[in-house]
Amino acid sequence: MRLSTYFVPTLKENPADATMASHRLMVRAGMIRPLAAGIYSWLPIGWRVMKKVMEIIREEMDAIGAQEFQLPALNPVEIWEQTGRVESFGDTLFHLKNRPFVLAPTHEEIFTTIAKDHIKSYRDLPQIWYQIQTKFRNEPRPRSGVIRGRQFFMKDSYTFDRDFTELDKSYGAHREAYKKIYSRSGIKFFIVGAYSGAMGGTGSQEFMVESPDGEDTCAVCDNCDYAANLEVATSAAKPVGRTDGSKKPEELHTPNIKTIDQLAQFLHISTERLAKSLVYKDDTTPVLVLMSGNDQLNEAKLTTALGKTAFAMSPEELSKYTGANAGSIGPIGLKDFRIIADKRLENANELISGANKDDYHITHIDFSRDVKIDGYYDLRSIEAGEPCPSCGKDLRVVNAIEIGHIFKLGTKYSVSLNANYLDENGTEKPIVMGSYGIGVERIIACHIEQNHDDNGIIWDNSISPFMVHVTSVNMDSNEVVATADKLYEEFNAAGIPALYDDRHGVSPGFKFKDADLLGMPVQVIIGERNLKQGNVELKFRKSGERKVVGIGAAVEEVKRFLKS
Ligand code: ATP
Ligand code: MG
Repeated sequence: MRLSTYFVPTLKENPADATMASHRLMVRAGMIRPLAAGIYSWLPIGWRVMKKVMEIIREEMDAIGAQEFQLPALNPVEIWEQTGRVESFGDTLFHLKNRPFVLAPTHEEIFTTIAKDHIKSYRDLPQIWYQIQTKFRNEPRPRSGVIRGRQFFMKDSYTFDRDFTELDKSYGAHREAYKKIYSRSGIKFFIVGAYSGAMGGTGSQEFMVESPDGEDTCAVCDNCDYAANLEVATSAAKPVGRTDGSKKPEELHTPNIKTIDQLAQFLHISTERLAKSLVYKDDTTPVLVLMSGNDQLNEAKLTTALGKTAFAMSPEELSKYTGANAGSIGPIGLKDFRIIADKRLENANELISGANKDDYHITHIDFSRDVKIDGYYDLRSIEAGEPCPSCGKDLRVVNAIEIGHIFKLGTKYSVSLNANYLDENGTEKPIVMGSYGIGVERIIACHIEQNHDDNGIIWDNSISPFMVHVTSVNMDSNEVVATADKLYEEFNAAGIPALYDDRHGVSPGFKFKDADLLGMPVQVIIGERNLKQGNVELKFRKSGERKVVGIGAAVEEVKRFLKS
């Protein structure tokens, strides 16, 4: 493509709202333009990258026997009502104003409907179906450019199997295909155990890219391969346990003490045996959650424990239900509550908690004697430096961007939409499903996050929009232009897609800056001085190395470099 006519509106200035390098560079390199919050247009050079990434995805999906579909984004709302997801997606689901339709945020419902209509027998199984298609989500805080869009491309696939053993195989095939997709896209990633949500499912993993701007937090062990989203991560942190002492609970006046730290200071003890109370309410029941000291409750873990979402009580509800304000609430004498506690507090004694009376606490509480605990669950968010649950070495806690998610769905959708099959004995059974997603934009943005410098993007060959960037330094010299034209044609003829800066009236400095910003792996610079000796200059974007070669050797030299 010739830059004199190819539409690549590069910018010198960073967009004001962009905090991430990928966001800044994608806008400056003329790949994307914002239309509204979380909505972007893809311009020609950006779309070339997008198509390359989609091609890698297609090749690897096809390689595991997946079949490509294209489903409508516009869906009748009834189907979404049948699976309960109008409610669970809530505000994130876009509804049409003039018809009972929604814009699909994912496609379990529609693929399952097709399976329900056409898969009748065990002989029709297994199936792997996928599409690369636009998704719509009314994200409350679209940010980081295309990383969190309201409209974005997802590769979503769905597997249909007769039982859970077969599901494991389909899931395993996806896991391997995903590794290849991300590796081929030039991305460094890691895989974590992930949260399956309130709706169940039998296991899921996420593909993550470490980044300070990531909205997910993960625990990672550098010594073994343990890695988990904080929503499910555990550690070998010691339980609080039992200690000497068998005194009965006693009320203690604790004036103006509101926090765990104040209480620890007031009593001159460590925070561990202070049982902190957090008060939630699900759709029917008030729930008291007890945590040790300053351990942080992880709400995803709470949802898993309760099997549904619960919401923190407001201060008004708190005093209505407990008779006290935050800071003075505890398990003793609390009526009509479901009481659960974090595993670290299992059967602990000599605990101190609120008295459900402002400015009072109760000491010497023994959970195995004085409180009816409905269950101990893993509820705490682990912290950096805690021992790894599999090898005991220190865990790191890092921010990460989720680039993919594989999910053993089980029978949730087949049951709610009646997608059944007949097994060998003629018994009707729900189809066992998996679902698997890749954020296509996130691959591109994360690639740039990991491959750029102050001057611009540094594309990996695999997804670079062009392989070589030919720069004619002086458009007024017939000799320069003739050589640049010729080389440009030769690169294309040799199957090396070339971008050619043949713009008139643009200074050499400006052209060099654009070449670095756009980031093709090799630049070929044609200027008068080298040309006098029959030479052109090559610049390798990643290493910054330069090399002067004869005109006739340029194509071979670039070919060799791209192969290595
Ligand atoms: P997140 O937690 O980041 O909101 P999610 O868990 O809701 O993502 P999934 O439903 O698992 O996302 O979707 C599959 C993949 O689609 C994700 O792994 C991610 O790569 C991508 N994705 C999800 N939401 C967006 C979005 N708003 N913009 C761009 N890509 C997205
Ligand atoms: Mg996810």
